[in-house]
Amino acid sequence: MKKDIKSMNYGELENEILSMGEPRFRAGQIYSWLQKYQVEDFDEMTNISKNLREKLKDNYEIYSCAIEKKLVSVYDDTAKYLFRLHDGEYIESVVMKYKYGYTICVSSQVGCKMGCTFCASTIAGFVRNLSPSEILSQVGAAQRDLGIRISHIVLMGVGEPLDNFDNVMRFLELVTDENGLNLSMRNISLSTCGVVDGIYRLLEKRLQLTLSVSLHAPNDEIRSKTMPVNKRWNIDELLKACREYTKATSRRISFEYAMISGVNDSDECARELAGRLKGMLAHVNLIPVNEVRETGYKKSGEERIRRFTAILTSCGINTTVRRTLGSDINASCGQLRRKQREM
Ligand code: SAH
Repeated sequence: MKKDIKSMNYGELENEILSMGEPRFRAGQIYSWLQKYQVEDFDEMTNISKNLREKLKDNYEIYSCAIEKKLVSVYDDTAKYLFRLHDGEYIESVVMKYKYGYTICVSSQVGCKMGCTFCASTIAGFVRNLSPSEILSQVGAAQRDLGIRISHIVLMGVGEPLDNFDNVMRFLELVTDENGLNLSMRNISLSTCGVVDGIYRLLEKRLQLTLSVSLHAPNDEIRSKTMPVNKRWNIDELLKACREYTKATSRRISFEYAMISGVNDSDECARELAGRLKGMLAHVNLIPVNEVRETGYKKSGEERIRRFTAILTSCGINTTVRRTLGSDINASCGQLRRKQREM
């Protein structure tokens, strides 16, 4: 088994290079090729001798993402990638253009164990975790292909990031390294379905990222039906962890709420939700649910969403309705990977 060189931080890489009998400055050069320039092949390291490149190839692998398919929305330039990994598995990433720059939505796992009933990513189950390098290479490959610099990252693609905790933490370390892609932690969001022990572990790290919590229901009855994770940690436990998180980091939490017609979108649900979030440093993001063929759910109508928003706002809850981007290219939630597997 060759070692995963791109998942190493600088200290680890330096140890490897020194133990090969190479001078210390080589580690800096190689790290820069991998992390800053995101090369996909050792032969792109033009200031490294052929001899050393061959030695590197014998011992290490650069796990990268090959573009299997790319779809670009005709409406808004949103680009969706289906990437093929070294073992033939597929993952998805989406690049969106906003006024403030480019945002990429990256996957953290191949498939997902969480079983949310509205989500396409979980239908075919869980395959494996992504390595730090594979999460990072999604950013690298998209930047390279589009010839842009990505400034914002959301860990909202396929998978549950807190279920792949250590690899996601290493990814965050690498992507924010000033000798790597040097992104600001403040420009990164991590979304969880409510893995409460993971929220406490994350809190300990005191990172300045934005925590996004997929709430999607105002009470346990509805939430346990749509999100199995709620049977492990209920809403009270989840919101307690969120309050602790805000206390520790002073960061506002963003709550995601997919509006599903007739399931969680009544006036009563809005009032109940407002009651639960009262007094929290929170923001609610309403998203008309993406209709995935297998789930049978329908999105709430515009009028329903307006009314729901009005109730939350009148209760003092900061609320926005998420704009839909890339609606013509299935730009969300594991739908492309799912199609690929069906072929
Ligand atoms: N596992 C993490 C991150 C991946 S999902 C999480 O659950 O937060 C990213 C977001 O998309 C989550 O808020 C998720 O609940 C939401 N989502 C999944 N399927 C959806 C759908 N069909 N329509 C709208 N949002 C959906």
